Amino acid sequence: MDDGPSGPSFFLARARLRPVRSDDHAWMGAALRQARAAGRKGEVPIGAIVVVSGRVIGRGANRPVGACDPTAHAEVTALRRAARTSRNYRLGGATLYVTLEPCLMCLGAMVHARIHRLVYGARDPKIGATRLLRQARAARLNHRFDVTGEVRAGECASLLREFFRKKRRVRNPS
Ligand code: ZN
Repeated sequence: MDDGPSGPSFFLARARLRPVRSDDHAWMGAALRQARAAGRKGEVPIGAIVVVSGRVIGRGANRPVGACDPTAHAEVTALRRAARTSRNYRLGGATLYVTLEPCLMCLGAMVHARIHRLVYGARDPKIGATRLLRQARAARLNHRFDVTGEVRAGECASLLREFFRKKRRVRNPS
């Protein structure tokens, strides 16, 4: 059987990346809207949403600069809002959609929140934490979740590319 979209396995060396589901494309569109909103405010354009039973219960646009908060990543913001909405810090049954492969901090937050599934857009070879997690032998964590990668990866990545291209142009006008 095909593993579906390629990508790193989480938590277990044997874990397989899960296949894309029919509604993943549409939900990633909602995360992309959050990413664009972040970009309009001059933040790195990354967006996330948390979905439970076909309903968005938390949205997050990346905003560490505006919030003066190094933890204000899209995923953390979306998880905080989702937890507030459901009046429970544990988000069993939740799927988190994020436009960029998450960092170690955000993956840790997802473990604490006990999410059910993670779907990310573009891979992040620098900050994406899957490799670190494997090295940390995170298989011993008492919570695991399914991961699907590279959903609308092209759109997610081009938002970021365009953002950094503009930034460079401002810094080095030719
Ligand atoms: Zn993060």
